[in-house]
Amino acid sequence: MRTTPDTTTIAAAVESLRDDLIAFLRRLVQHPSLPGHEQQAQRFYADKLATLGLETQMVPALLDELKDHPAFCDDGVPFHDRLNVVARWPGRGGGTGRTLILNGHMDVVPTGSAELWRDSPWSGSVRQGRICGRGACDMKAGLTANALAVQALQATGFHPAADVLLESVIGEESGGAGTLATIVRGFRADAAVISEPTRLRVCPVQSGALSFRLHVRGRAIHACMKPQGVSAIEKFYRLLEAVQELEQRRHREYRNPLYEDPQNVAPVNVGVVRAGEWPSTVPDELVAEGRFGVLPRESTANARRALAECLDDVAAADPWLRDHPPRLEWFEGQFEPGETATDSAVIQTLSACHQEMLGAPPRLQGVTYGSDLRLFTNHAGMPAVLYGPGDVADAHTVDESVEIEEVVQATKALACMMVRWCGEGA
Ligand SMILES: [Zn+2]
Repeated sequence: MRTTPDTTTIAAAVESLRDDLIAFLRRLVQHPSLPGHEQQAQRFYADKLATLGLETQMVPALLDELKDHPAFCDDGVPFHDRLNVVARWPGRGGGTGRTLILNGHMDVVPTGSAELWRDSPWSGSVRQGRICGRGACDMKAGLTANALAVQALQATGFHPAADVLLESVIGEESGGAGTLATIVRGFRADAAVISEPTRLRVCPVQSGALSFRLHVRGRAIHACMKPQGVSAIEKFYRLLEAVQELEQRRHREYRNPLYEDPQNVAPVNVGVVRAGEWPSTVPDELVAEGRFGVLPRESTANARRALAECLDDVAAADPWLRDHPPRLEWFEGQFEPGETATDSAVIQTLSACHQEMLGAPPRLQGVTYGSDLRLFTNHAGMPAVLYGPGDVADAHTVDESVEIEEVVQATKALACMMVRWCGEGA
């Protein structure tokens, strides 16, 4: 007669794997899984899941299957041979088991200049209770927690009643082609937990983000004749001021208690500006690239319209810009917002598991960045939630790192989630 593992049993099983967990995460970090180069790391992860006896397959992200999907963003990285890992821990039936996806992304962002790092970005070094390296926090810690949670439960003799799917996807940082490929291929469950770095907060809602490019025209002339030229940089400056005002107004008019900072729900950032070629030439062209935040429950069409109208208003009031209107394009990452109701079963169960394993109720919080959550909620008809180890403030940084203790805690809560959500198999 099997007994469902209790809190103490789950915690002890995870604790006994602490060294394995550290070793596995370090090895994962040592695979430089930059966009388009995720495959070695994916094989390593797939091997681990296969060793645990999961039915492990490699699922390609094929451009032909994705390109007409409304949620598809072309990240410009060739698709050939970019495989996702999907591993099934088969449910044994019985009880009222519900299926669960534990999802994570293997791609990491570039390291910046490696000399700025204390150790190599791919060292996986351990310093002061933290594992360091690009991707350690975002989100190889989460992928590790997903896999080790299964391993820990297996050590207790637990078998789920309903299927658990572990997914490790490519291309999340640049638009989500990996998770979208799994959805297009028909992988579904009753809920998905994405173990992104949320500092173990339960995050049921994400803002969206739309990459845009703005072209501003001017008229070149020798700077000594400036009044007869038009500076594209100075025209852009006016447009930028209006966009900043728009960003503030959108936040003043929006309320959502899940966001800690009401002024930072859907930020707008200009991240690239290219203009001019000579100090004493009035610049005749400027190209700016940025990301325009989408508020939760706002449509992307509405967000695009808000920016376009803002730019039109500035142009209408300026004789030069009226005749030479700035040109706005949307390109690459186009992340919709996504949301799961806070009173839904997956949020309630996960929160209860967090409390059970860690001794206090979790904070519920909205996140300001795009993630694959929206693909599950908007395009797979599934409730989904972000919950995992690491602080997003440590993601994408020099000397990125994650606290080992937090990875262990996440592993316990995720193991508990599988037990409570999927049920004990017959
Ligand atoms: Zn991430």
